[in-house]
Order: sequence, then structure tokens, then C-alpha cells
Amino acid sequence: MSRWNFIRFFIVLLSIIIINIINIPNTRSEVIEINKDEITLIRKAFEPYRDVTEGMYREVKNQKIKLEQEHYDNIYKGSGRKVAYLTFDDGPTPNITTQILDILMTEKIEATFFIIGKNAKQYPDIIKRINKEGHLLGNHSYSHSYKNIYQNTDIYIEELIKTEEVINDILQTEYDLTLTRFPGGMFGSRPAFIKAINEAGYTYIDWNALNGDSEGKVLPKEHLVNRLINSSRGKEVLVILMHDAGGKITTVEALPEIMEYLKAEGYVFLRLDQPYSIKENSDYIIRENNSDRRII
Ligand SMILES: [Zn+2]
Repeated sequence: MSRWNFIRFFIVLLSIIIINIINIPNTRSEVIEINKDEITLIRKAFEPYRDVTEGMYREVKNQKIKLEQEHYDNIYKGSGRKVAYLTFDDGPTPNITTQILDILMTEKIEATFFIIGKNAKQYPDIIKRINKEGHLLGNHSYSHSYKNIYQNTDIYIEELIKTEEVINDILQTEYDLTLTRFPGGMFGSRPAFIKAINEAGYTYIDWNALNGDSEGKVLPKEHLVNRLINSSRGKEVLVILMHDAGGKITTVEALPEIMEYLKAEGYVFLRLDQPYSIKENSDYIIRENNSDRRII
């Protein structure tokens, strides 16, 4: 059994357990409407097991986070295929994110957007569009203010939760906003933050290639294309850092050329939560429909 088949099997097994756990309160609330006496009896019957089910829920969630973090930690090891994960940080913004979405749609490519909570709150329709068009949303803190978020782990996690609440509110669902990216990147610094977010139910990823669009105000398109070519040379798996903050006009301009280059080099494009084998094993689908993406 290959590694991913094993993980798939494990995730399916965990999902079945969770669905069963989730179904218990649902069944109970339906009974409430029918017969109050009956529900009182059911409640009493369930009471002794409440801690057990909550404990199981936590345990399953911890296992899920552990597996997902392993996936992100090992992502650069690859599996003999050239994969490019396009990622866009600091949006959504009305002028830049929408243009990037148009380009991705034309090319039928899915990407990952690490959004800032306060921007999401300001532009809910763009969040809806990102989700509807099949891209993955990631959490990039609420304020992106280094001096605030890195004061201590509690403040950082509060920002992740706040952003998650904004996304759930916009999408009217419990979106699984587990994947995060630390503003400025982490690269092994601040180990206490890494430990804290994993324990709080979040995973994280940095990057290993970039277009350099945050290395100056508005850098020429050619500079961004060359930076991407140089930073990706010789790498089988690319997690590419780009930005869809307002003003990143040349990021939009450079994107078609960057994608052309990567395609010519033989890369396939995936969302960060998709394993490399996804294109080979067509039966492997993490989610067929965005609305199915729920926290377990
Ligand atoms: Zn950022």
C-alpha cells in the first residue's frame, strides 16, 4: 500500500468516526422538536459518554493535523514528478486578486491563497469567488502586523481564529481553514509558534521559490519572471511565493509568462492540499465540491 493510499484510507476511517460523532447531536436535536420527554431521556443516556466523545474528537483532530503537517513538511521531497504549487499571499484585493483569478480560470489552474483576515472582511465577494473557483484558502493572520502577532503565541492563535471566523461567516460554512502561512515566513525560527499552532489545530508551510514581488515596491515584470526562473532552477517541487496585495500590478503581468515557463519545464500545478499523485490516481479526490470542505 503506497504512502498516500495509506493516508487516504486513514482519512476515510477518521471521517467515518467523525460523521458518527457529529450525527449524535444532530439526531438529538431532531428529537427535541418531536418529543421533549424523549430528548431528556436521550440526553441522560448520553451524559456519561460526553467526555469520551469530546476526547475522541480531539484525538482524531490531532491525528489529522499531524498527518497534514507531515505532508507539508515532506512536500519538497517529491515523488519523481515536477509539481508547482502557486501561492498568493496578503489578499484579497479588488484590483489584483480578481485579475489573478481571471488568469487562473483561463488556464484552468488551481492555486492557494493565503488571505489576511481583515482584507477578507472588507472583500467578502472575492473570498466567495476564490472558494467557488476551486482554489484553496489559507490563513495568513488577521492583521499581518508583525509587531502585534509575534508578541506571543496566544495573540497569534487569536488572529488565526478570528480570520477563520470571518471566512466561516462569509462562506456560511465551517471551512477547513487549517493551513496557515506565517507572515514573513518561519523557516524554523520561533519553534514555540510552530508547536503552538499545531497544538491549536493548524498546519503551516513556507516556500522554496518566489517571484520576488515583495523585494521592492513595483518591480518590472521581467525581474519577477527571472527571479522565479532562478529560484526554481533544479527543483522538482516548487512552492512559489507571490503576492496579491494591492499594487502588485507586475505580479499579474508576470503570471502568464511564469506559468508558460513552468509548463514548458514540465511542471503540473496543484493546490497545496493535493498530493503529488492526484493526477495519476484519478479516483483520488480530496473534495469534489467546495461546500463539502468541513472541519473534522
Ligand atoms: Zn504576507
